[in-house]
Amino acid sequence: DVSAPVIALGHRFADELPEMAVSWQAAPVASPRLLVLNEPLAAELGLDPQWLRTDEGLAFLTGNTLPEGAAPVAQAYAGHQFGGYSPRLGDGRALLLGEIGGRDLHLKGSGRTPFARGGDGLAAVGPMLREYVISEAMYALGIPTTRSLAVIGTGKSIVRENLAPGAILVRVAASHLRVGSFQFARATGDDGLLRRLVAHAVERHYPEAGDALGLYRAVVGAQADLIAQWMLTGFVHGVMNTDNMTISGETIDYGPCAFMEGFDPATVFSSIDEGGRYAYGNQPGIAQWNLARLAEALLPLFDDDQDQAIAKATEALSEFRGRYAAATLRGFRAKLGLTGSDVDDAVLTSLIEDLLAVLQADRSDFTSFFRDLAGNDGSVAEAADGDLGEWITRWRALGPDTDAMNRANPIYIPRNHLVEEALAAGTDGDLEPLHGLLEAITAPFDERPGLDRFAQPAPPDFGTYRTFCGT
Ligand code: AMP
Ligand code: MG
Ligand code: MG
Repeated sequence: DVSAPVIALGHRFADELPEMAVSWQAAPVASPRLLVLNEPLAAELGLDPQWLRTDEGLAFLTGNTLPEGAAPVAQAYAGHQFGGYSPRLGDGRALLLGEIGGRDLHLKGSGRTPFARGGDGLAAVGPMLREYVISEAMYALGIPTTRSLAVIGTGKSIVRENLAPGAILVRVAASHLRVGSFQFARATGDDGLLRRLVAHAVERHYPEAGDALGLYRAVVGAQADLIAQWMLTGFVHGVMNTDNMTISGETIDYGPCAFMEGFDPATVFSSIDEGGRYAYGNQPGIAQWNLARLAEALLPLFDDDQDQAIAKATEALSEFRGRYAAATLRGFRAKLGLTGSDVDDAVLTSLIEDLLAVLQADRSDFTSFFRDLAGNDGSVAEAADGDLGEWITRWRALGPDTDAMNRANPIYIPRNHLVEEALAAGTDGDLEPLHGLLEAITAPFDERPGLDRFAQPAPPDFGTYRTFCGT
């Protein structure tokens, strides 16, 4: 027997930034079906997983019954999409239910809002399960990310390429403040709003930052660290528009994202990214481009003198490079088992550069390579000749700690062919493959018997992988 809990959903965003919040409600869901629930995350939020599974719990998770005092809103934001500016994007199919423990509880696929433009406000089971799997994989890999609390089938078909079953994703985030939120505030011409937005962001994410310039510096640093982590695991976000880049430094908006298998900086998965703007190797550059847009939005607050403001912004943005390089070096040091070694940064840098050249030439699997390298049986080292063989000899001489490598290099990532398999089955109502995949990727560093297929790259007949913007 599970009694109804008292849930307090805050509404600080709506209170402090009313110009950027539209009061709204989720569309009715007559027969919700829980497809997947993240019990550890529920517990973290103080929500009883048992209760969430009840009819009442599902009514809460779909936004159909609101706790007393809740004031859900659709958030306004702007953004550069593939380099082109849109002054009014906003939550077209999403809803901020409220804040719980200082974090946002947010729905995706909960019906049209005033920002929906031509969209139907809905989401399909496949893409929402995809966000669930990939975001939870990122979390388990130690990469800052929004979390997924649940996916709920709505029981209604929605129109996509074919008909598809509809779903709602319940997402948890440090906040949904984006670069595009600041672009929106700036575009209103109201410096008071911009100031309030800065104060809100500082208080929520970087209390030490103080003013707008401090906030900007903190975001530059957090994003440099984040992108370095993406690069170290082969994550390709796929749609790094300024509305999809958070102020908190969490990865957000899992649409056409995927993990690279064979190492190649030109790797692109998204079917609409024809120019390769958001290719794996472009991500650090694009992050800096987005951060330059954030600086432009904040310029009036950096200095009364706009020349001075630009100089300050340029200086702050220039810190990205060093911060990114340091995080990358630290990450590769761990991946190569050299954290305890006294090998200096210059030697390590050339070791990494040479390794990446070999990996690219061989299109080696960017995940299994490092586990194989650490393998105690020495099979990779034995089998390798030519450039890789020489490289391994150099690396070996540095005395790597191969046990430590297995704590830095995942064995299980959400492999594209297995994600597709799980989503196709889930769309047909069979959630077994999804749960199998989740079991592997939520403990990505611990090799376990029976999970070998989750450690293998896609078979050759899987072909070139193409993804589609979250629908
Ligand atoms: P995204 O590419 O996911 O970052 O979405 C870009 C914008 O399109 C955001 O403003 C979304 O809210 C909006 N959007 C995406 N899909 C839909 C949909 N099916 N209905 C309404 N708005 C949508
Ligand atoms: Mg988005
Ligand atoms: Mg999206």
